[in-house]
Amino acid sequence: MSRHITLLGAGLTGPLLAIYLARRGHAVDLYERRPDMRVRDIGGGRSINLALSTRGLHALAGVGIDQEVLADAIAMPGRMIHDLEGNLSLQPYGTEAQAINSVSRAGLNMLLLDRAEREPNVTIHFSARCTGVDLGTRTVTVRDDETGAERSFVADLLIAADGANSSLRASMEGMPGFTAATEWLDHAYKELEIPPGPDGSFMMERHALHIWPRHDFMMIALPNPNATFTCTLFAPYEGPNGFDSIGAGDDDILAYFKTHFPDAVPMMPTLLDDWRANPTSRLGTVFCSPWHVDDWAFLIGDAAHAIVPFYGQGMNCCFEDCHVLDSLLAEESEDWGMIMRRFHELRKPNADAIARLAVANFLEMRSKVVDPDFLRKKKIEARLHGMFPERWIPLYTMVTFTIIPYAEALRRAGEQDALLDRIGVDAVESALEEGPEKVREVLWNEVPA
Ligand SMILES: Cc1cc2nc3c(=O)[nH]c(=O)nc-3n(C[C@H](O)[C@H](O)[C@H](O)COP(=O)(O)OP(=O)(O)OC[C@H]3O[C@@H](n4cnc5c(N)ncnc54)[C@H](O)[C@@H]3O)c2cc1C
Repeated sequence: MSRHITLLGAGLTGPLLAIYLARRGHAVDLYERRPDMRVRDIGGGRSINLALSTRGLHALAGVGIDQEVLADAIAMPGRMIHDLEGNLSLQPYGTEAQAINSVSRAGLNMLLLDRAEREPNVTIHFSARCTGVDLGTRTVTVRDDETGAERSFVADLLIAADGANSSLRASMEGMPGFTAATEWLDHAYKELEIPPGPDGSFMMERHALHIWPRHDFMMIALPNPNATFTCTLFAPYEGPNGFDSIGAGDDDILAYFKTHFPDAVPMMPTLLDDWRANPTSRLGTVFCSPWHVDDWAFLIGDAAHAIVPFYGQGMNCCFEDCHVLDSLLAEESEDWGMIMRRFHELRKPNADAIARLAVANFLEMRSKVVDPDFLRKKKIEARLHGMFPERWIPLYTMVTFTIIPYAEALRRAGEQDALLDRIGVDAVESALEEGPEKVREVLWNEVPA
């Protein structure tokens, strides 16, 4: 049965979901607080580019736009580590064929808006901010940010894809049995830029995600198609290398960067301007439960489970939400109460798993990538995966290059880690030298008959 769906938020999740819902025969009114970014410059906002990987691509493929998105993406098959002396080392993310993809947030958002608008049963309302949701009367209030006019209407069905500060989630705060918390990191981030060289070319290897790991802080850089790199400094608010420790003067800012990222400074002519123009933003993880209100309303995407960006999975997880919801709609198209409960049951453990993994990956990026023991283990795991592609899959590969549910990936990785710890890396390394039969025997006690 076709429903009239009120969908809040036309960021990355909203328009993709609108396409999926429209193709299942529902009428969608999509409300976005910002003006239409295709006709009005609304500024860069946060994270100019994003890493898109298998889960996100899988969900985009579900509506036939994965290849179009990939056409404008830059493949990043590995991490390029920059040490203090400016030496570079490339650490592949997976096999030769596997890469994450740097995509423009605005470009992707505009493409999704275009495609959503092409669906005959989707209407997008811009500058339309949801200012309140009354759960009792099932009423949504929307303000036109251009005119200030406010109107309220009873929504047949409400879905909130309005991001980490969701208006529906705020209204759910008083709901019996509802819990919500945001865990803030003591690190913040600021975006900076490496422009193209004088001849318009990339100043560093474009096919890599660049990292300057400095233990309790780091800088990263992702390439853009216009030959710029968007750099992000992640540092504690306080402490010796934190934002608070950097003075406000030009010399103070330059001294910090020259000390910690000396090879980057000559490539950052706009550093001082960027530093002052761009905000220092905080990072947090949103946990809440349940995600739905009876059979009437529910949260999806960052509104339900915003995470920190260190696994490059926030958007990928949101897109996967849309695909999973669509699979539920294919099975059960009438009972929305059931659909919402099943969606929560299926997605909550996975959202919790990637939330944990994302926090843990910060330590990996800023510190472990230069730890010889960690690198040795990575190499062993890559060899095991090469030998037994289905049986042994490194955690990063499961998360980034498969659609194995996040919680399952976390569980399997725990088992793999325990096995490696029990047998010991020396023994596994020697077995790898001898070949697959020896590895089977050492790891899994399988002796050929
Ligand atoms: C620094 C940083 C780097 C990141 N890097 C990556 C990455 O590399 N890979 C990755 O997969 N993910 C990444 N993410 C995560 C990714 O940005 C989010 O997971 C994704 O944007 C969530 O999409 P969303 O549509 O659910 O929410 P949002 O993108 O936040 O969109 C919400 C939309 O709702 C609108 N809205 C908000 N309130 C209202 C309201 N009251 N009424 C109407 N509209 C409203 C907003 O204007 C916005 O358009 C990163 C995040 C950050 C902060």
